[in-house]
Amino acid sequence: MTLKLKTDHKKNKVASFAEVWECPTTKDKSLHATVDFFPGEVLSSFGAREILAEPNYLSLQTAEHQHILLDPEFLQYINHSCDPNVYFDTTNMIVTALRKIGIGEELTFFYPSTEWSMDRGFDCHCGSHNCLRIIQGAAHLPLNVLKEYKLSQYIQEKLAQVDGNTPTISLEYL
Ligand SMILES: [Zn+2]
Repeated sequence: MTLKLKTDHKKNKVASFAEVWECPTTKDKSLHATVDFFPGEVLSSFGAREILAEPNYLSLQTAEHQHILLDPEFLQYINHSCDPNVYFDTTNMIVTALRKIGIGEELTFFYPSTEWSMDRGFDCHCGSHNCLRIIQGAAHLPLNVLKEYKLSQYIQEKLAQVDGNTPTISLEYL
């Protein structure tokens, strides 16, 4: 079933290492590896096409009031997963593999690893065993959950500002 659906995807090669797949029914786009990656390997460097003061649904947070639109643009098709295989390192501006990634595998990252409080939260249906269901940014998740993930320097600094045992939920309203 899943395999059949995947063959129907429209595929567009966008880089030496990746292609964008578009679902014919939902039109949802996703980025998939066309080569193998090993844990820690760099997939791509990235920069900012544009720098915004406020987040939007495509932006990546790099500092307190700094949200970038990604360059290369196709990196925006790296969707969220609660069990991600890549990480956006906003200190070194590189995307790295968190584990081994095979050809055809969808590239995913954990949005709260860079996003403190998102413009719009969403209900996650990533299907991973540890799915968190509601994704709104790191500010809305307890520390014991966040500790399981590789987090950007900015998110780590935000977390260091709060008591190590207190859930960080609704911190932005304090
Ligand atoms: Zn999930």
